[in-house]
Amino acid sequence: MNDVQDILKRNIERAREAVSEALAAAGRPADSVKVVSVSKYVSVELTCSLVEAGMTHLGESRPQSIWQKHDAVNEVARRQSVEIEWHMIGHLQRNKVARTLPMIEWLHSLDSLRLADAINAEAIKQQRRVNSLLEVNVSEDTSKTGLPPEEARQVLQHVLSLPGLCVRGLMAMSTEHATAEQTLREFHRVRELRDALQREFGTACDLSELSMGMSGDFQQGIAAGATMIRIGSLLWEGLL
Ligand SMILES: *Cc1c(COP(=O)(O)O)cnc(C)c1O
Repeated sequence: MNDVQDILKRNIERAREAVSEALAAAGRPADSVKVVSVSKYVSVELTCSLVEAGMTHLGESRPQSIWQKHDAVNEVARRQSVEIEWHMIGHLQRNKVARTLPMIEWLHSLDSLRLADAINAEAIKQQRRVNSLLEVNVSEDTSKTGLPPEEARQVLQHVLSLPGLCVRGLMAMSTEHATAEQTLREFHRVRELRDALQREFGTACDLSELSMGMSGDFQQGIAAGATMIRIGSLLWEGLL
């Protein structure tokens, strides 16, 4: 167990240093990006270890994993007097909305009108308002998930009329195997799309969050203005 904690702490420290360097290189203030620790690769026990090592924003890509881990991990957090915020970062099927909503603070993967409507209906029932990011696809890679810009605009317009959702910004993934330059261009495009939507919809929404960047490309995300990065593999080196 101690070994695990040692490795984990070292990985976290290394990730934090790299994030600080990227922020400094971009001329951005320290701590201006939220690190979401992606725990999808590991067991409940290792996820609890992550919380013991000090991480409080946890990302999962499958709703079932959140259901499975939520209670045990939150209990560890309670003992440490910290609060966990769960981030749903993968596709959420509509039939899993009801059970998942009470457990998450953030949805990074709002990717259709139908999902928005399903979340809205359930959120109203649960008297919740769900912080959501529109997942957009600005690459030429059509196989990828996420809304193309024009559809993102339409979904945003619709969602602004739904009381159960609060759209806070955009999320995107870069094209797989893209070069650093291409990734940077894509992330800049996401930011430009956000800026354009913010101008268009004005005070009707606050799109200040940009979730861009994973273990392999968080530097580009930070350079392009990410406020959230989703880091998995980097944290689990030597433990998987
Ligand atoms: C798995 C995953 C991540 C983390 O990826 P790493 O490369 O392991 O850091 C980030 N975002 C999403 C949507 C994921 O599914």
